[in-house]
Amino acid sequence: MREKIVYLDYAASTPLDPEVEAHMLPYLRAVGNPSSIHAAGRYLRAAVEEARARIATLIGADPGQIVFTSGGTEADNHALRGAVDTWAIPHILYNPTEHHAVTHTVEALAHSGRIQAHPIAVNHMGRIQLDHLEALLRRYPRSLVAVMYANNEIGTVQPVREIAQLVQQYEGYYLCDTVQVMGLGWVEVRSWPVDFLAASAHKFYGPKGVGFLYRRRPIRSLITGGAQEREQRAGTENVAGIVGLAYALEKAYQHRETYNAHLQRLKAHLVDNLRTRFPEIVFHGDLTPEGSHPGILNFRLPHTDDLILMHLDLSGVCASGTSACASGSAHPSHVLQALGIPASEARKALRFSWGRDTSEADLNQALEALQTAGLPTV
Ligand code: PLP
Repeated sequence: MREKIVYLDYAASTPLDPEVEAHMLPYLRAVGNPSSIHAAGRYLRAAVEEARARIATLIGADPGQIVFTSGGTEADNHALRGAVDTWAIPHILYNPTEHHAVTHTVEALAHSGRIQAHPIAVNHMGRIQLDHLEALLRRYPRSLVAVMYANNEIGTVQPVREIAQLVQQYEGYYLCDTVQVMGLGWVEVRSWPVDFLAASAHKFYGPKGVGFLYRRRPIRSLITGGAQEREQRAGTENVAGIVGLAYALEKAYQHRETYNAHLQRLKAHLVDNLRTRFPEIVFHGDLTPEGSHPGILNFRLPHTDDLILMHLDLSGVCASGTSACASGSAHPSHVLQALGIPASEARKALRFSWGRDTSEADLNQALEALQTAGLPTV
């Protein structure tokens, strides 16, 4: 009999928490539009505003600084395009290991001639080099800087506080994509002078298709139309999604310590066992608890072939080779290539990412599957 499916792709999307779903249901079924002034509309408006206030409290922001979006991609687009439009910013300094939501948007802005894009140097673990960022800022003060909190493919954490201070010193604007860490409860903006944050509910057990942008100051809207979201994002709000997002985030912050410890324990188990079973393994990115996401691990086994993911899938293990958004493409990961890994080796990369419901037994099943995929072992 086939063993149970082991889902190791939490960085792509987490399962919807049944409690979150239960909170969303009444709003999915409710009639009305939150912009209508009658009772049905007011009921929905109140839910949206309550969700906004709860999220703001969790991250130390004002409710007016939160704009609901369709997810992380829209939040990144809104920040980048909105900031360039609003303040006529001529230069964007960006981390080359950003998610495509950032890199492709920066490239599109550069292609249209509106900005010049400057990649920031990263080391072999994918961490940006602060002295290079400072040299760029000295040359291009008042730039827009995009450096994520934790990388979605390799988990490397960036020195986000130092980056924010440097950007402030050179009067720039800082966008930090916090999509992978918002659910770890790591984000608060009171003592962190960041200008924009992007977040997405389906990365912390909320629904897909809803997220938010935190922005310190208002910028031009990405989507034009009605006056929703204080004219910052036109379109009828995804009320059930927004309610689900706020509930999921509240739960994430409440349980953050146990959650982080659970993920970290699993990471240590996985790293130890991979090392023992496959001495030739090569890990990508930083593995240290202080320097990496506790729920993401990226590695390659030199003797694997391109079919390794298929072998795992057939053994009931859902993992990925790169970010979900790029996994349909034939290109090897831009993140791994930015670390200096040749394309032929980058193609062998596997990303395991785990979460709330993952157990050591699940990881052991994945380890067995790797072994039975015909790989050399000790
Ligand atoms: N940014 C990062 C770091 C991500 O990992 C993702 C999704 O994988 C996104 C942005 C895009 O978020 P969404 O899927 O909500 O558009």
